[in-house]
Amino acid sequence: MEEVIIVIFGLIFGSFLNVVIHRLPLEQSIVKPRSFCPECGKTVRAYDNIPVLSYLILRGKCRDCRTPIPVRYPLIEIFTSFTFWYSYQMAENGLIHLIFTIIFLLILTALCLIDLKHMILPDELTIGGSIIFLIYSFFNPEIKTLEALITAFGVTLLFTGMYIFYIKVRKIEGLGQGDIKMVFLLGIFLGANKLIVTILLASFSGLIVGLVIIIIKKKDFKYALPFGTFLSIGGYIAYFFGDSVLKVVSSLYM
Ligand SMILES: [Zn+2]
Repeated sequence: MEEVIIVIFGLIFGSFLNVVIHRLPLEQSIVKPRSFCPECGKTVRAYDNIPVLSYLILRGKCRDCRTPIPVRYPLIEIFTSFTFWYSYQMAENGLIHLIFTIIFLLILTALCLIDLKHMILPDELTIGGSIIFLIYSFFNPEIKTLEALITAFGVTLLFTGMYIFYIKVRKIEGLGQGDIKMVFLLGIFLGANKLIVTILLASFSGLIVGLVIIIIKKKDFKYALPFGTFLSIGGYIAYFFGDSVLKVVSSLYM
């Protein structure tokens, strides 16, 4: 029964996450107005706003103007529900920590998709999230406060150094300022080990995707990738599997 409630909660929050992902980069309010069709402007009726189910009933089209609703909406609702369910399955440190874990993973999901579409990482999520998790680092049962602080400030300094290096020496913006703010958020919640796994996963997958794009689309090497998207995916995986990944890697070299 608990699992059913968790899954339904996840779907409802997924519906809200859709609004955040759509409106935040456009600098629109995420609380009002109510959801409306971007094509015909009609407000979505309450009974057409049920996560996933409404999409199926409406066969993926607006009830008024029949404009297709992007399939990412129900997919994000399902993925958010998965995040709730899986975090609940893996939770070992009580309800409060479960709630903060879910908030962290939802912020990563939003950053992942917003950076992919708009190439920006909104301050509301990076700085806002950093402040929340900076305060939480004093209560986080999974990581020592001092380790979290050293990791977060250390990685932020490192990325700032790399940012300045790219600008001054190579005269290109190799990293975005959003990436610098985002690594603080990652470091303060994940700690050193999982942060290292995050950055390795992000760099490695970014490199592979970058090479594929260069080869297939014939872009040059200055083609910018949304690094925040890769950091988000890396951080999500590292939260659950970071320790196992490190064990495998270190067993190969020991
Ligand atoms: Zn419409």
